[in-house]
Amino acid sequence: MSISRFANLPDAQGFFGRFGGQFIPPELKQVMDEIDAAYEEIRLREDFQQELAELFTDYVGRPSPIFHARRLSEKLGGAQIHLKREDLNHTGAHKINHCLGEALLAKFMGKTKVIAETGAGQHGVALATACALVGIPCEIHMGQVDIEKEHPNVTKMKILGCKLVAVTRGTATLKDAVDSAFEEYLKDPQNFLYAIGSVVGPHPFPKMVRDFQSIIGREARQQFLERHGRLPDHVTACVGGGSNAIGMFTAFLDDDSVHLVGVEPAGEGLDTQRHSATLTLGKPGEIHGMACYVLEDEQGNPMPVHSIASGLDYPGVGPQHSYLKEQGRVDYETATDDECLDAFLTLSRVEGIIPALESAHAVAWAIRIAATLPKDQHILINLSGRGDKDADYVADKLGL
Ligand SMILES: *Cc1c(COP(=O)(O)O)cnc(C)c1O
Repeated sequence: MSISRFANLPDAQGFFGRFGGQFIPPELKQVMDEIDAAYEEIRLREDFQQELAELFTDYVGRPSPIFHARRLSEKLGGAQIHLKREDLNHTGAHKINHCLGEALLAKFMGKTKVIAETGAGQHGVALATACALVGIPCEIHMGQVDIEKEHPNVTKMKILGCKLVAVTRGTATLKDAVDSAFEEYLKDPQNFLYAIGSVVGPHPFPKMVRDFQSIIGREARQQFLERHGRLPDHVTACVGGGSNAIGMFTAFLDDDSVHLVGVEPAGEGLDTQRHSATLTLGKPGEIHGMACYVLEDEQGNPMPVHSIASGLDYPGVGPQHSYLKEQGRVDYETATDDECLDAFLTLSRVEGIIPALESAHAVAWAIRIAATLPKDQHILINLSGRGDKDADYVADKLGL
Protein backbone atom coordinates (compact mmCIF):
# COMPACT_ATOMS: atom_id res chain seq x y z
CA MET A 1 0.00 0.00 0.00
CA SER A 2 1.50 3.34 -1.00
CA ILE A 3 -1.25 5.67 -2.15
CA SER A 4 -3.99 6.60 0.28
CA ARG A 5 -7.42 5.72 -1.05
CA PHE A 6 -9.20 8.03 1.34
CA ALA A 7 -7.04 11.01 2.33
CA ASN A 8 -8.12 13.22 -0.57
CA LEU A 9 -11.82 13.06 0.14
CA PRO A 10 -14.10 14.87 -0.19
CA ASP A 11 -13.48 16.29 -3.68
CA ALA A 12 -13.70 20.03 -4.36
CA GLN A 13 -17.50 19.81 -4.60
CA GLY A 14 -17.71 18.08 -1.25
CA PHE A 15 -18.43 14.57 -2.55
CA PHE A 16 -17.33 11.28 -1.06
CA GLY A 17 -18.06 9.21 -4.14
CA ARG A 18 -21.74 9.93 -4.85
CA PHE A 19 -22.46 11.08 -1.29
CA GLY A 20 -22.19 14.51 0.32
CA GLY A 21 -22.25 17.61 -1.86
CA GLN A 22 -24.49 20.64 -1.42
CA PHE A 23 -28.20 20.07 -2.06
CA ILE A 24 -29.24 23.59 -1.14
CA PRO A 25 -30.57 26.78 -2.79
CA PRO A 26 -27.99 28.83 -4.77
CA GLU A 27 -27.85 31.68 -2.18
CA LEU A 28 -26.96 29.20 0.47
CA LYS A 29 -24.43 27.46 -1.74
CA GLN A 30 -22.55 30.73 -2.02
CA VAL A 31 -22.51 31.09 1.78
CA MET A 32 -21.24 27.51 2.21
CA ASP A 33 -18.54 28.04 -0.41
CA GLU A 34 -17.36 31.12 1.48
CA ILE A 35 -17.16 29.12 4.69
CA ASP A 36 -15.20 26.42 2.86
CA ALA A 37 -12.73 28.92 1.40
CA ALA A 38 -12.23 30.57 4.81
CA TYR A 39 -11.83 27.20 6.51
CA GLU A 40 -9.24 25.99 3.99
CA GLU A 41 -7.22 29.14 4.56
CA ILE A 42 -7.59 29.33 8.35
CA ARG A 43 -7.00 25.64 9.09
CA LEU A 44 -3.46 25.92 7.68
CA ARG A 45 -2.58 29.00 9.69
CA GLU A 46 -0.05 28.37 12.41
CA ASP A 47 -1.82 30.61 14.97
CA PHE A 48 -5.09 28.68 14.46
CA GLN A 49 -3.42 25.28 14.71
CA GLN A 50 -1.49 26.30 17.78
CA GLU A 51 -4.49 27.73 19.62
CA LEU A 52 -6.61 24.66 18.88
CA ALA A 53 -3.81 22.30 19.92
CA GLU A 54 -3.34 24.17 23.19
CA LEU A 55 -7.05 24.07 23.95
CA PHE A 56 -7.17 20.35 23.22
CA THR A 57 -4.33 19.78 25.67
CA ASP A 58 -4.97 22.24 28.47
CA TYR A 59 -8.74 22.64 28.32
CA VAL A 60 -10.16 19.35 27.01
CA GLY A 61 -7.44 17.29 28.69
CA ARG A 62 -6.14 15.55 25.58
CA PRO A 63 -4.75 13.12 24.79
CA SER A 64 -7.51 10.98 26.26
CA PRO A 65 -6.05 7.68 27.52
CA ILE A 66 -6.60 4.19 26.18
CA PHE A 67 -7.65 1.81 28.94
CA HIS A 68 -7.18 -1.97 28.70
CA ALA A 69 -10.44 -3.39 30.09
CA ARG A 70 -8.78 -6.49 31.56
CA ARG A 71 -11.62 -7.64 33.78
CA LEU A 72 -14.17 -7.37 31.00
CA SER A 73 -11.85 -9.14 28.54
CA GLU A 74 -11.26 -11.95 31.03
CA LYS A 75 -14.94 -12.31 31.80
CA LEU A 76 -15.76 -12.67 28.10
CA GLY A 77 -12.90 -15.11 27.62
CA GLY A 78 -11.86 -13.95 24.15
CA ALA A 79 -10.34 -10.89 22.52
CA GLN A 80 -8.76 -8.09 24.57
CA ILE A 81 -10.97 -5.00 24.88
CA HIS A 82 -9.53 -1.49 25.01
CA LEU A 83 -11.38 1.80 25.51
CA LYS A 84 -10.43 5.16 24.02
CA ARG A 85 -11.63 7.37 26.85
CA GLU A 86 -13.39 10.30 25.18
CA ASP A 87 -15.69 10.18 28.21
CA LEU A 88 -12.86 11.78 30.20
CA ASN A 89 -12.85 14.95 28.07
CA HIS A 90 -14.02 18.20 29.65
CA THR A 91 -17.86 18.13 29.33
CA GLY A 92 -17.77 14.34 29.14
CA ALA A 93 -17.88 13.45 25.45
CA HIS A 94 -16.22 13.79 22.07
CA LYS A 95 -18.51 16.66 21.00
CA ILE A 96 -16.24 19.26 22.60
CA ASN A 97 -13.60 18.47 19.92
CA HIS A 98 -15.61 19.82 17.00
CA CYS A 99 -17.43 22.49 19.02
CA LEU A 100 -14.08 24.04 19.95
CA GLY A 101 -13.01 23.83 16.32
CA GLU A 102 -16.19 25.51 15.11
CA ALA A 103 -16.13 28.22 17.80
CA LEU A 104 -12.49 29.01 17.09
CA LEU A 105 -13.16 29.08 13.36
CA ALA A 106 -16.01 31.54 13.98
CA LYS A 107 -13.64 33.74 15.95
CA PHE A 108 -10.96 33.65 13.26
CA MET A 109 -13.60 34.46 10.62
CA GLY A 110 -14.71 37.48 12.66
CA LYS A 111 -18.27 36.17 13.14
CA THR A 112 -20.43 37.87 15.76
CA LYS A 113 -22.65 34.94 16.74
CA VAL A 114 -22.68 31.15 16.63
CA ILE A 115 -26.08 29.49 16.14
CA ALA A 116 -27.18 25.89 16.51
CA GLU A 117 -30.09 23.65 17.32
CA THR A 118 -30.01 20.95 19.93
CA GLY A 119 -32.20 17.90 20.59
CA ALA A 120 -31.33 16.31 23.91
CA GLY A 121 -29.01 19.20 24.66
CA GLN A 122 -25.61 17.53 24.37
CA HIS A 123 -24.56 19.55 21.33
CA GLY A 124 -25.99 22.70 22.92
CA VAL A 125 -23.97 22.27 26.11
CA ALA A 126 -20.73 21.47 24.27
CA LEU A 127 -21.18 24.45 21.97
CA ALA A 128 -22.16 26.83 24.77
CA THR A 129 -19.03 25.70 26.61
CA ALA A 130 -16.77 26.30 23.60
CA CYS A 131 -18.34 29.71 22.93
CA ALA A 132 -17.94 30.78 26.56
CA LEU A 133 -14.28 29.87 26.35
CA VAL A 134 -13.62 31.50 23.00
CA GLY A 135 -15.68 34.56 23.94
CA ILE A 136 -18.28 34.56 21.18
CA PRO A 137 -22.07 34.93 21.63
CA CYS A 138 -23.98 31.68 21.21
CA GLU A 139 -27.66 31.09 20.45
CA ILE A 140 -29.19 27.63 20.83
CA HIS A 141 -32.64 26.70 19.56
CA MET A 142 -34.39 23.86 21.37
CA GLY A 143 -37.90 22.43 21.13
CA GLN A 144 -40.15 23.19 24.10
CA VAL A 145 -40.86 19.46 24.52
CA ASP A 146 -37.13 18.73 24.73
CA ILE A 147 -36.59 21.65 27.12
CA GLU A 148 -39.05 20.07 29.52
CA LYS A 149 -37.40 16.64 29.22
CA GLU A 150 -33.75 17.64 29.43
CA HIS A 151 -33.61 19.76 32.53
CA PRO A 152 -29.92 19.36 33.48
CA ASN A 153 -28.69 20.32 30.01
CA VAL A 154 -31.05 23.31 29.83
CA THR A 155 -29.74 24.53 33.17
CA LYS A 156 -26.14 24.09 32.06
CA MET A 157 -26.69 26.08 28.88
CA LYS A 158 -28.22 28.93 30.89
CA ILE A 159 -25.33 28.91 33.35
CA LEU A 160 -22.86 28.95 30.46
CA GLY A 161 -24.42 32.16 29.24
CA CYS A 162 -25.84 31.17 25.87
CA LYS A 163 -29.14 32.50 24.60
CA LEU A 164 -31.61 29.64 24.71
CA VAL A 165 -34.52 29.98 22.28
CA ALA A 166 -37.55 27.80 23.12
CA VAL A 167 -39.24 26.60 19.93
CA THR A 168 -42.98 26.02 20.30
CA ARG A 169 -44.04 25.59 16.67
CA GLY A 170 -44.98 22.23 15.12
CA THR A 171 -44.14 19.29 17.36
CA ALA A 172 -41.75 21.51 19.38
CA THR A 173 -38.93 18.97 19.00
CA LEU A 174 -35.60 18.72 17.17
CA LYS A 175 -36.92 19.14 13.63
CA ASP A 176 -38.67 22.41 14.53
CA ALA A 177 -35.57 23.59 16.38
CA VAL A 178 -33.53 23.01 13.19
CA ASP A 179 -35.98 25.12 11.15
CA SER A 180 -36.04 27.87 13.74
CA ALA A 181 -32.24 28.01 14.12
CA PHE A 182 -31.81 28.03 10.36
CA GLU A 183 -34.21 30.95 9.94
CA GLU A 184 -32.21 32.96 12.44
CA TYR A 185 -28.98 32.05 10.65
CA LEU A 186 -30.34 33.18 7.27
CA LYS A 187 -31.02 36.65 8.67
CA ASP A 188 -27.29 37.40 8.49
CA PRO A 189 -25.09 34.54 7.27
CA GLN A 190 -22.20 36.97 6.71
CA ASN A 191 -21.92 37.61 10.43
CA PHE A 192 -23.28 34.39 11.90
CA LEU A 193 -21.90 30.85 11.81
CA TYR A 194 -24.20 27.84 11.99
CA ALA A 195 -22.44 25.16 14.03
CA ILE A 196 -23.54 21.70 12.92
CA GLY A 197 -23.34 18.98 15.58
CA SER A 198 -22.08 16.01 13.57
CA VAL A 199 -20.50 15.02 10.22
CA VAL A 200 -23.72 15.90 8.40
CA GLY A 201 -25.27 18.78 6.43
CA PRO A 202 -24.01 20.45 3.27
CA HIS A 203 -20.31 20.65 2.34
CA PRO A 204 -18.03 21.80 4.00
CA PHE A 205 -19.54 20.69 7.35
CA PRO A 206 -18.95 16.93 7.07
CA LYS A 207 -15.33 17.65 6.18
CA MET A 208 -14.76 20.28 8.90
CA VAL A 209 -16.33 18.27 11.69
CA ARG A 210 -14.39 15.17 10.56
CA ASP A 211 -11.13 17.11 10.59
CA PHE A 212 -11.74 18.42 14.12
CA GLN A 213 -12.72 14.94 15.39
CA SER A 214 -9.88 13.08 13.65
CA ILE A 215 -7.63 13.86 16.64
CA ILE A 216 -9.29 10.82 18.30
CA GLY A 217 -7.96 8.28 15.81
CA ARG A 218 -4.58 9.96 15.38
CA GLU A 219 -3.97 9.74 19.11
CA ALA A 220 -5.42 6.24 19.43
CA ARG A 221 -3.35 4.78 16.59
CA GLN A 222 -0.13 6.16 18.02
CA GLN A 223 -0.99 5.20 21.62
CA PHE A 224 -1.86 1.68 20.59
CA LEU A 225 1.32 1.25 18.52
CA GLU A 226 3.46 2.56 21.37
CA ARG A 227 1.85 0.30 23.94
CA HIS A 228 1.48 -2.90 21.93
CA GLY A 229 3.90 -2.54 19.01
CA ARG A 230 1.05 -3.32 16.64
CA LEU A 231 -2.35 -2.05 15.55
CA PRO A 232 -5.67 -3.28 16.96
CA ASP A 233 -7.52 -5.93 14.93
CA HIS A 234 -10.95 -4.32 15.30
CA VAL A 235 -11.87 -0.69 15.90
CA THR A 236 -15.46 0.16 16.70
CA ALA A 237 -17.64 3.19 17.46
CA CYS A 238 -21.35 4.00 17.62
CA VAL A 239 -22.90 5.85 14.68
CA GLY A 240 -25.63 8.48 14.95
CA GLY A 241 -24.65 11.26 12.55
CA GLY A 242 -21.23 9.64 12.66
CA SER A 243 -18.79 12.18 14.10
CA ASN A 244 -17.16 10.13 16.85
CA ALA A 245 -16.91 7.13 14.53
CA ILE A 246 -15.34 9.04 11.65
CA GLY A 247 -13.04 10.78 14.15
CA MET A 248 -11.82 7.37 15.26
CA PHE A 249 -11.78 5.64 11.85
CA THR A 250 -10.00 8.28 9.75
CA ALA A 251 -6.49 7.43 10.99
CA PHE A 252 -7.05 3.71 10.30
CA LEU A 253 -8.66 3.85 6.84
CA ASP A 254 -5.48 2.89 5.01
CA ASP A 255 -4.55 0.14 7.49
CA ASP A 256 -6.05 -2.81 5.66
CA SER A 257 -5.41 -5.16 8.59
CA VAL A 258 -7.74 -3.15 10.83
CA HIS A 259 -11.40 -4.17 10.72
CA LEU A 260 -13.57 -1.07 11.21
CA VAL A 261 -17.09 -1.45 12.59
CA GLY A 262 -19.73 1.26 13.04
CA VAL A 263 -22.62 0.30 15.32
CA GLU A 264 -26.10 1.67 14.65
CA PRO A 265 -29.10 1.56 16.99
CA ALA A 266 -31.47 -1.32 16.25
CA GLY A 267 -33.78 0.16 18.91
CA GLU A 268 -36.66 -2.23 19.64
CA GLY A 269 -35.64 -4.42 16.69
CA LEU A 270 -34.82 -4.10 12.99
CA ASP A 271 -38.17 -5.72 12.16
CA THR A 272 -40.07 -2.96 13.99
CA GLN A 273 -40.50 0.70 12.97
CA ARG A 274 -38.70 1.62 16.20
CA HIS A 275 -35.02 1.86 15.28
CA SER A 276 -32.54 4.25 13.73
CA ALA A 277 -30.35 1.92 11.65
CA THR A 278 -29.88 4.22 8.67
CA LEU A 279 -26.99 2.46 6.92
CA THR A 280 -28.37 -0.98 7.67
CA LEU A 281 -31.95 -0.48 6.45
CA GLY A 282 -31.99 2.89 4.66
CA LYS A 283 -31.26 3.69 1.05
CA PRO A 284 -29.42 6.46 -0.79
CA GLY A 285 -31.35 9.74 -0.75
CA GLU A 286 -31.05 13.34 0.36
CA ILE A 287 -31.58 15.04 3.70
CA HIS A 288 -30.41 18.32 5.27
CA GLY A 289 -28.51 19.46 2.20
CA MET A 290 -26.47 16.29 1.58
CA ALA A 291 -26.72 13.00 -0.28
CA CYS A 292 -26.43 10.04 2.08
CA TYR A 293 -28.27 6.95 3.27
CA VAL A 294 -31.70 7.92 4.59
CA LEU A 295 -34.49 6.10 6.40
CA GLU A 296 -37.70 7.04 4.58
CA ASP A 297 -41.34 6.08 4.82
CA GLU A 298 -43.38 5.02 1.75
CA GLN A 299 -44.07 8.67 0.86
CA GLY A 300 -40.34 9.45 0.77
CA ASN A 301 -40.39 11.51 3.98
CA PRO A 302 -37.77 10.96 6.69
CA MET A 303 -38.97 8.17 8.97
CA PRO A 304 -39.64 8.84 12.65
CA VAL A 305 -36.68 7.14 14.28
CA HIS A 306 -36.04 5.72 17.73
CA SER A 307 -33.13 4.79 19.92
CA ILE A 308 -32.74 4.48 23.67
CA ALA A 309 -29.78 6.82 23.12
CA SER A 310 -31.13 10.22 22.13
CA GLY A 311 -27.83 11.16 20.44
CA LEU A 312 -28.26 8.37 17.88
CA ASP A 313 -31.80 8.89 16.58
CA TYR A 314 -31.26 10.56 13.24
CA PRO A 315 -32.84 9.38 9.94
CA GLY A 316 -29.76 10.36 7.90
CA VAL A 317 -26.06 9.65 8.40
CA GLY A 318 -22.77 11.29 7.43
CA PRO A 319 -21.95 11.06 3.70
CA GLN A 320 -18.50 9.65 4.39
CA HIS A 321 -20.03 6.69 6.23
CA SER A 322 -22.40 6.15 3.29
CA TYR A 323 -19.34 6.06 1.04
CA LEU A 324 -17.30 3.78 3.30
CA LYS A 325 -20.20 1.34 3.48
CA GLU A 326 -20.43 1.13 -0.30
CA GLN A 327 -16.64 0.79 -0.61
CA GLY A 328 -16.83 -2.08 1.85
CA ARG A 329 -14.13 -0.44 3.98
CA VAL A 330 -16.29 -0.19 7.11
CA ASP A 331 -18.84 -2.77 8.28
CA TYR A 332 -21.99 -1.39 9.87
CA GLU A 333 -23.61 -3.55 12.52
CA THR A 334 -26.41 -2.89 15.00
CA ALA A 335 -27.23 -3.26 18.69
CA THR A 336 -30.72 -3.17 20.22
CA ASP A 337 -31.87 -1.02 23.15
CA ASP A 338 -31.79 -4.12 25.38
CA GLU A 339 -28.25 -5.11 24.36
CA CYS A 340 -27.21 -1.53 24.96
CA LEU A 341 -28.68 -1.54 28.49
CA ASP A 342 -26.87 -4.81 29.23
CA ALA A 343 -23.58 -3.37 28.00
CA PHE A 344 -24.18 -0.19 30.03
CA LEU A 345 -24.55 -2.20 33.25
CA THR A 346 -21.77 -4.65 32.43
CA LEU A 347 -19.15 -1.96 31.80
CA SER A 348 -20.29 -0.09 34.91
CA ARG A 349 -20.09 -3.17 37.16
CA VAL A 350 -17.03 -4.90 35.73
CA GLU A 351 -14.80 -1.86 35.08
CA GLY A 352 -16.38 0.97 37.11
CA ILE A 353 -16.96 3.02 33.98
CA ILE A 354 -20.51 4.26 33.30
CA PRO A 355 -20.74 4.78 29.52
CA ALA A 356 -23.14 7.04 27.64
CA LEU A 357 -26.03 5.01 26.20
CA GLU A 358 -24.75 6.05 22.76
CA SER A 359 -21.29 4.62 23.44
CA ALA A 360 -22.83 1.50 25.00
CA HIS A 361 -23.90 0.44 21.48
CA ALA A 362 -20.26 -0.01 20.50
CA VAL A 363 -19.57 -1.77 23.79
CA ALA A 364 -22.50 -4.12 23.10
CA TRP A 365 -21.06 -5.11 19.71
CA ALA A 366 -17.62 -5.69 21.25
CA ILE A 367 -19.12 -7.85 24.01
CA ARG A 368 -21.03 -9.89 21.41
CA ILE A 369 -17.98 -10.49 19.23
CA ALA A 370 -15.13 -10.75 21.78
CA ALA A 371 -16.02 -14.24 23.00
CA THR A 372 -15.85 -15.58 19.44
CA LEU A 373 -12.29 -14.29 18.93
CA PRO A 374 -8.91 -15.60 20.16
CA LYS A 375 -7.31 -14.06 23.25
CA ASP A 376 -4.48 -12.45 21.29
CA GLN A 377 -6.83 -10.29 19.21
CA HIS A 378 -7.50 -6.69 20.21
CA ILE A 379 -10.71 -4.67 19.97
CA LEU A 380 -10.48 -0.90 20.41
CA ILE A 381 -13.76 0.82 21.30
CA ASN A 382 -14.28 4.54 21.03
CA LEU A 383 -16.02 5.33 24.33
CA SER A 384 -17.58 8.53 23.00
CA GLY A 385 -19.01 9.81 26.28
CA ARG A 386 -19.81 9.21 29.93
CA GLY A 387 -23.17 8.06 31.19
CA ASP A 388 -23.95 10.43 34.07
CA LYS A 389 -26.64 11.99 31.90
CA ASP A 390 -28.29 8.56 31.49
CA ALA A 391 -27.92 7.24 35.04
CA ASP A 392 -31.39 8.26 36.36
CA TYR A 393 -33.13 7.03 33.22
CA VAL A 394 -31.44 3.62 33.33
CA ALA A 395 -32.00 3.21 37.07
CA ASP A 396 -35.73 3.94 36.55
CA LYS A 397 -36.00 1.67 33.55
CA LEU A 398 -34.32 -1.26 35.31
CA GLY A 399 -35.96 -0.60 38.67
CA LEU A 400 -32.61 -0.19 40.47
C1 LIG B 1 -23.99 12.98 20.29
C2 LIG B 1 -23.33 11.76 20.75
C3 LIG B 1 -23.12 10.66 19.88
C4 LIG B 1 -23.65 10.60 18.48
O1 LIG B 1 -23.09 11.48 17.57
P1 LIG B 1 -22.08 11.04 16.44
O2 LIG B 1 -22.02 12.25 15.57
O3 LIG B 1 -22.64 9.84 15.73
O4 LIG B 1 -20.80 10.73 17.10
C5 LIG B 1 -22.40 9.57 20.35
N1 LIG B 1 -21.95 9.52 21.62
C6 LIG B 1 -22.14 10.54 22.48
C7 LIG B 1 -21.61 10.41 23.87
C8 LIG B 1 -22.84 11.69 22.09
O5 LIG B 1 -23.03 12.69 22.96
